[in-house]
Amino acid sequence: MRIGFGYDSHRFEEGRPLLLGGVLFPDCAGLKGHSDADVLIHAVIDALLGAAALGDIGSHFPDTDARWKGADSVRFLASVVDEVRGAGFAIGNVDATVICEKPKLRPRVDEIRANLAAILGIDVSRVSVKGKTNEKMDDVGAGVGIEVHCAVLLDEGKE
Ligand code: MG
Repeated sequence: MRIGFGYDSHRFEEGRPLLLGGVLFPDCAGLKGHSDADVLIHAVIDALLGAAALGDIGSHFPDTDARWKGADSVRFLASVVDEVRGAGFAIGNVDATVICEKPKLRPRVDEIRANLAAILGIDVSRVSVKGKTNEKMDDVGAGVGIEVHCAVLLDEGKE
């Protein structure tokens, strides 16, 4: 078994759509980034790549590459899932914590879990997404952006 840990953060930027785990939050400002800035998917990707020791999101999809400008992060994740599986790993489970003052995640957590599970090709019972605030502390607590921490387990020698 292999463990991976991923982290990402992005600042809010007005006029962009907010996507978390591929799910649109229409009533909230989006995040600044070269791609669609889906901070949750980016942390999941880094956790998967970390567990497999296959580099990081920046080495796979550099933000200096015009191909990835405005790119759909769901495509990044699908490609990384293929790569991780191709290297002989099966995804055991994913556990992510999303930290922000807004939006409130809980009402839409099951939708996000189902969306991630479909991209990861695993049962939704293996995908956990937890939302919390930073209790108004620091920049995230002041509403400057969103931070995500993610752990994954991979099973070696499968598929
Ligand atoms: Mg990112």
